[in-house]
Amino acid sequence: MPPARASGRASKGMVAQMQADVLVLGAGMVGTSIAVHLQKRGRQVVLLDRRPPGEEASYGNGGLVQREAVFPHPFPRELRELRRIARNRSVDVRYHLAALPGLVRPLFGYWRNSAPARYAAIARQWSTLIAGCLDEHRALAEEAGSAALLRPVGYIRAHDDEALLEADLAKAERARAFGVGSVALDRAALHEAEPHLAGEFVGGVHWTDPYAVNDPHALTLSYAALFERLGGHVALGDAATLTRAGSGWRVVTQDGASVEAAEAVIALGIWSGRATARFGYRVPLFGKRGYHRHFTPRGNAGLTRPVVLGGYVLAPMRAGIRLTTGVEFAPTGAGPTPVQLSRAEPIARRVFPLGDPVEPQPWMGVRPCTPDMMPIIGPARRQPHLWFAFGHAHQGFTLGPATGRLLAEMITGDAPFVDPAPFRAERF
Ligand SMILES: Cc1cc2nc3c(=O)[nH]c(=O)nc-3n(C[C@H](O)[C@H](O)[C@H](O)COP(=O)(O)OP(=O)(O)OC[C@H]3O[C@@H](n4cnc5c(N)ncnc54)[C@H](O)[C@@H]3O)c2cc1C
Repeated sequence: MPPARASGRASKGMVAQMQADVLVLGAGMVGTSIAVHLQKRGRQVVLLDRRPPGEEASYGNGGLVQREAVFPHPFPRELRELRRIARNRSVDVRYHLAALPGLVRPLFGYWRNSAPARYAAIARQWSTLIAGCLDEHRALAEEAGSAALLRPVGYIRAHDDEALLEADLAKAERARAFGVGSVALDRAALHEAEPHLAGEFVGGVHWTDPYAVNDPHALTLSYAALFERLGGHVALGDAATLTRAGSGWRVVTQDGASVEAAEAVIALGIWSGRATARFGYRVPLFGKRGYHRHFTPRGNAGLTRPVVLGGYVLAPMRAGIRLTTGVEFAPTGAGPTPVQLSRAEPIARRVFPLGDPVEPQPWMGVRPCTPDMMPIIGPARRQPHLWFAFGHAHQGFTLGPATGRLLAEMITGDAPFVDPAPFRAERF
């Protein structure tokens, strides 16, 4: 089928109509990367979002392209750890009591999938996607002219506790079998790597592979600009307007234009569940919220790369030092409660000379998670010509381009570069 044009203006007073081959819903890092990959393969794509590209979870993350993340975030299974979290006083995990009833089922699945044997099998499947993340970002960024944003400096996890350092070093050894590089840092080497870090650190692990992006929003915007340069069309509109149109799909944009396409992709991050439910798919997505705020560094203080400390991250960004927090469970739609940020800030100030906050209010975003820690990527088999790409949890910024390539290959009938079977929607 020759590609249809994503154009077709109507004269004044008439409702405009657009035709495309594929409609991608959601312009976060995931949806934008899918759109670029399809457009590169000669498909005419409309990328629709209610906001301009990259303004939700893809905006405020830690900016890490995490080649080292071959082990997804498991649900803690040690009693001591569970007790610590249950007290609800930590920086890394917090929950709203009101959120718990709705979380029982997905968190139970998450806990079961974190049992050692299942977890090991999941890590093997998940790591096939992670393995290509650096190459896939580099390929898009080079074409987009934004490769300078991919700083190959890795990140450091610093420890003030010998036992935690030992556990991290053991993890680094296990990760080596997956092709992941790291360097053990003693106290002196840590100081040499990040001289402005103060505190009683015993050492750390320098994960050397990841790219540290000091403006994640700019990277997504550069991929969106590449998409448009290749002839793609970005539209503002609500994914809730998606309906069937013959064997294909239709949405209505904010300015009233109707867009029809043969295929549709749901890449709406944490909001994907609402869209899939309308078409008969109840996916067990749940959100892990996180916050950030930038601070100006004092004097000439700086960090070369992000540093992960006890439950929070200090990342050097264009906007300042970004303090990001761990995980918060809250009822859907609940307003921000940046308690973890308030807890982390005084601790962070003791280890790094943070100055004034840059923004009046912290930013909040939601990681879209599934109970088996893996995204859903592939066709909705009960709905012909509908595709899913969401649920990337802690690593959606990392996996956008790899997901984009994989899904584009599936849609166009090319051989997929990794086995998509583990990511199919029907596993739930
Ligand atoms: C604090 C924090 C730190 C993180 N750090 C990292 C990191 O260092 N590395 C990493 O890889 N990942 C990190 N993540 C995770 C990562 O940010 C997410 O996994 C990723 O951004 C998800 O991308 P997405 O495109 O699926 O979703 P999003 O970026 O949330 O995009 C979804 C899009 O759908 C749109 N949308 C929703 N509903 C509608 C609708 N009805 N109509 C139209 N459009 C709609 C939204 O406007 C949005 O643009 C972090 C997350 C947080 C919160």
